[in-house]
Amino acid sequence: MDKVSKIEPVVIKLAETKLDLEGVQKFMEKYNATDWFERVRPTQANDSEFLIELSGRACYKSYGAGLNPNVVKIREDSRSYLTNVLEKGDGSILEHATVTFAFLNVSRVFTHEVVRHRAGTAMSQESLRYVRPREISLWLPPDLEKVSKEFQDAVKEIERQYHELESKFDWDKMPFEQKKRVTSALRRILPDGIATNIIWTANHRTLRWVIEMRTHPSAEVEIRKVFDQVAEICIRDYPILYSDFSKTQLADQTFQYTPKFSKV
Ligand SMILES: Cc1cc2nc3c(=O)[nH]c(=O)nc-3n(C[C@H](O)[C@H](O)[C@H](O)COP(=O)(O)OP(=O)(O)OC[C@H]3O[C@@H](n4cnc5c(N)ncnc54)[C@H](O)[C@@H]3O)c2cc1C
Repeated sequence: MDKVSKIEPVVIKLAETKLDLEGVQKFMEKYNATDWFERVRPTQANDSEFLIELSGRACYKSYGAGLNPNVVKIREDSRSYLTNVLEKGDGSILEHATVTFAFLNVSRVFTHEVVRHRAGTAMSQESLRYVRPREISLWLPPDLEKVSKEFQDAVKEIERQYHELESKFDWDKMPFEQKKRVTSALRRILPDGIATNIIWTANHRTLRWVIEMRTHPSAEVEIRKVFDQVAEICIRDYPILYSDFSKTQLADQTFQYTPKFSKV
């Protein structure tokens, strides 16, 4: 059961939104809001949540009472401000900050599903036109545990036939353009489950929605496993933005993450 059972989907956080503090300070001066900045920044070191709050407050100049003569009272702390944003469903300001993940050892079943989320996402997937696989690695879905031997045999047989077809071409003599065409033609016999990698970026409005949809019990098991990891990272790193999510264990040991405020 070597290369079938050992493959597990892995989530790595690669990047997130970072403030340009010099620019933020300049902006605060223009808004006469340096008091707000100096008071809030030490309590809110999380760049993503800070940027979202700063952007939202720009709408009403609500960095302090009286900056906008119509505003006599403001929500003082970040938690109450951002929770109110979620409660009211003013999710557009959550689009200012993004997170980039690497999803490794995921299947093309997974990538086909994740790319359906179009709003607020960016993705770069390993190309099977350019990359000619040496071996076929697959994650073994738990529902196939009891036929794992047969599953692995089927994978080995596909791999054998793939290499047999591949060997009919003289790759060393082919120009790169032709290699690309033949590699792409050959991928048609590869299984949907073949392990691949995709880099995926999403803003926080999208992330909240995709976590909710893709950890729901009706979603496919692999995407639930991946978004369980995504949810844990988001709850850990953006504690206010994801504070309304609750976690329930499902029968297959994955978790469903449900927000109090859905689809902000
Ligand atoms: C359990 C499950 C089963 C599924 N089964 C199938 C299936 O059998 N067949 C199938 O084809 N798909 C299936 N899907 C995919 C599903 O139909 C959606 O395409 C996918 O989940 C993307 O979600 P979304 O539509 O919310 O789009 P996202 O891109 O995540 O967009 C988020 C929200 O933005 C808004 N939005 C986005 N784009 C537009 C737009 N162009 N116009 C107006 N509003 C927009 C919508 O409110 C949308 O909900 C399934 C999904 C799940 C979770």
